[in-house]
Amino acid sequence: MEQARFSGRRFLLITVLNVTITIFELLGGIVSGSLALISDALHNLSDSFSVILSYIAHRIGMRSPTPKNTYGYQRAEIIAALLNSLILVFLSVYLLIEAIKRIMQPEQVSGGVMFWTALISFVANLFATILLSRDSKHNLNLRATYLHLLSDALASVGVIIGSLLIFFFKISWVDPVVTILVSLYIAYEAWPIIRQTLMILMEGSPAIDPTEVKNTIMTIPSVRGVHHFHTWLINENELVASVHVNLANQSLRETELIYSQIEELLQKKYKIMHVTIQAECTRGLKDKMCFSKDDEKQQH
Ligand SMILES: [Zn+2]
Ligand SMILES: [Zn+2]
Repeated sequence: MEQARFSGRRFLLITVLNVTITIFELLGGIVSGSLALISDALHNLSDSFSVILSYIAHRIGMRSPTPKNTYGYQRAEIIAALLNSLILVFLSVYLLIEAIKRIMQPEQVSGGVMFWTALISFVANLFATILLSRDSKHNLNLRATYLHLLSDALASVGVIIGSLLIFFFKISWVDPVVTILVSLYIAYEAWPIIRQTLMILMEGSPAIDPTEVKNTIMTIPSVRGVHHFHTWLINENELVASVHVNLANQSLRETELIYSQIEELLQKKYKIMHVTIQAECTRGLKDKMCFSKDDEKQQH
């Protein structure tokens, strides 16, 4: 099972690693006077928090549905991914402000201490990223955490390059400039996750065209009409839908067969795993697939 492989032990290892990197980098940042290092450390601190949050959400998401929460708890992970990404955006803005302050009031930075701290942090971050990458392909929450760690590793490369420039050329503005690049990168990585999680929470499913769904269902010979279609995502993988179909005045046994055909079609073509179908003879025959606000008033 995909989810079972994402073990608690690995999560613990990543968290311990992150906390260690944070303490180490923070000390290096204070000793060297480098804002870039301190910002990287703060970034790591938010990582530790986000890894813990992801893990808790993942555990909640694995719970079985209950009579009260009939869809289960999978959206816990969507909410955690959104929260993690929002934290990144706030961090990004904070770093941007601090860096601009530094450009206006430059401070002395020790390139040597900065270099070794950044190098060791980079290796540790890379290790944590590799640990996560294997599980992150099909899970938005894990991907949020993975991207986060990856951006850290890249940020550390920026800090390493910056430290070399400071060490060899004594250019002090490199430190805040690296900080700005790091902060922009964080925001850039967080944005798509914010968009996708909000889309899921807003009950959207942009990949499905209702007209195409209608045409697909109409290929079944005894279906006379299709209307009032809804589809939404439970999490980033699980699609559900509801739809009305117009059929002849036939027996329930015959209708059941059509239900099975519709389910099969929608599952094959759109990977909709759960469809609720309402059969009607003539009611709503002229209704649309999607209702606008005005249509909604006169619908059945
Ligand atoms: Zn990070
Ligand atoms: Zn209807």
